[in-house]
Amino acid sequence: MDLQSEPEVIDLGGRTVIPGFIDTHNHILAYAQLLDFVNCSSPLNKNIEDILQAIKAKIDLTKEGEWVQGFGYDDTMLEEKRHLTREELDRFAPNHPVAIAHISGHLAVVNSKALSLAGLEDNVEDPDAGYYGRDENGKLNGVLFESAAMQPVMNVLPVASKEQMIAQLGRAAKHYLAQGITTNTDAAVGMLGDPEKEIQVHTEAARQGINPMRSRLMIMHNLLQKGMRFEDYTAEELDKELIDKSNENVRLDSAKLFQDGSIQAFTAALREPYYSGSKEKAKIFQKQDAFNKEILNLHERGFRIAVHGNGDRAIESILDAYAYAIKEAPRKEHKHRIEHVQTAMTKDIKRMEELDVAGSFFINHVYYWGERHAKIFLGPDRASRMNPLAEAVEHNLLFTLHSDCPVTPISPLFSIWAAVNRCTTEGNILGPEQRIDVITALKSMTIYGARLNFDEDNSGSIEVGKRADFVLLDKDPTVIDPIKIKDISVEETWIGGNQVYKQEID
Ligand SMILES: [Zn+2]
Repeated sequence: MDLQSEPEVIDLGGRTVIPGFIDTHNHILAYAQLLDFVNCSSPLNKNIEDILQAIKAKIDLTKEGEWVQGFGYDDTMLEEKRHLTREELDRFAPNHPVAIAHISGHLAVVNSKALSLAGLEDNVEDPDAGYYGRDENGKLNGVLFESAAMQPVMNVLPVASKEQMIAQLGRAAKHYLAQGITTNTDAAVGMLGDPEKEIQVHTEAARQGINPMRSRLMIMHNLLQKGMRFEDYTAEELDKELIDKSNENVRLDSAKLFQDGSIQAFTAALREPYYSGSKEKAKIFQKQDAFNKEILNLHERGFRIAVHGNGDRAIESILDAYAYAIKEAPRKEHKHRIEHVQTAMTKDIKRMEELDVAGSFFINHVYYWGERHAKIFLGPDRASRMNPLAEAVEHNLLFTLHSDCPVTPISPLFSIWAAVNRCTTEGNILGPEQRIDVITALKSMTIYGARLNFDEDNSGSIEVGKRADFVLLDKDPTVIDPIKIKDISVEETWIGGNQVYKQEID
């Protein structure tokens, strides 16, 4: 808008305007890739025929000989309680190679065309760390168990070009805008395998306006190590390069590391053993000495650091490393982060406060896995205090919430709902004492995100002098019944004074 002209006054008819959502941890490029794949998950698909029909619909739109890929099938949730077979896929796809990944990521099913492109014949021997599914006559049935058996197919899968990835990112961005997100963080650039291309996809999509959101990038730490692409870069230099290439729409967020895995895979490093199942604690990924040194190196080069830590043992290790770096090279306003922070104990939260470490909490877990955390992975006591947001508030932590999309669906309003209600899939309240109020939850997806992004002067609230990034909601989350917050509609999204999304009303 021309600042000289008279402002336009719009009557919103009782609807609500809030600052644009700032999503500080998700994997938009991974989500973007899945948009071109067939969703074979359940409960969307009740049985094998449902999946076959979904695959057929995609085949009808795909040139002969080109790949059709699916994701998310779960044999345990299908009526037949078994895997699909190559013959079933062949019925609909005699001339298209088809590959469908299982929800676990540990197996896949492919058709005959895919087997032949991968050079897999019935007489192939099983690899050491995996095996091929076979029928009663020893003929391959198309199911490939573990990566060793999937590898021959992986080797011949098409790799998306930069242009294809930019187009995919544009489609994904539309979904994010529809959820009211105006600033977004890719939480692991380099994760898909070609970091240079991933950075170009982000900067070019921003420059061309294909992705209108403001983007922040976490750069995988290995790219910053000796012999790698950014070995000599300071944070300032890398930030400047991203700004220059993107018309100022893409900026550096942090150097990204992982210090453990995931709770539901029993790979999150805990202080006490898992509740059931493996009864192990799982180990931290990197030995403390080497980890301290790498953190110090990044800290000295001016990087803000973000480390994935789900388990309390990993969180302790991350805090040890931050304490070491801060002591060796004191630096104000570092805003180093812990990602997920799911099982932090009170002493960890207190230490985060002392060290001025911020946390981005994976609050959606309380809904999606809360029941299973209580019964299987963590037991009732640890599960009830997972993602301890009330303690984060009590100890004045700078914190945000996230979906980790595509791990859970992207929706800031859903994450706010989860933080305020702590409701599980079965309708129970998990750890009511860790619930937070609506205003604080809203702040964690707006002004706290801006603060975490070192961008408080420009975004995170609606004020004179800040960018006009805001969202129009059909209802006011601060006055409706909190249990209905997730059902509020985002009607419009605006970035820099331009409308970038408007809900279709039918
Ligand atoms: Zn993540």
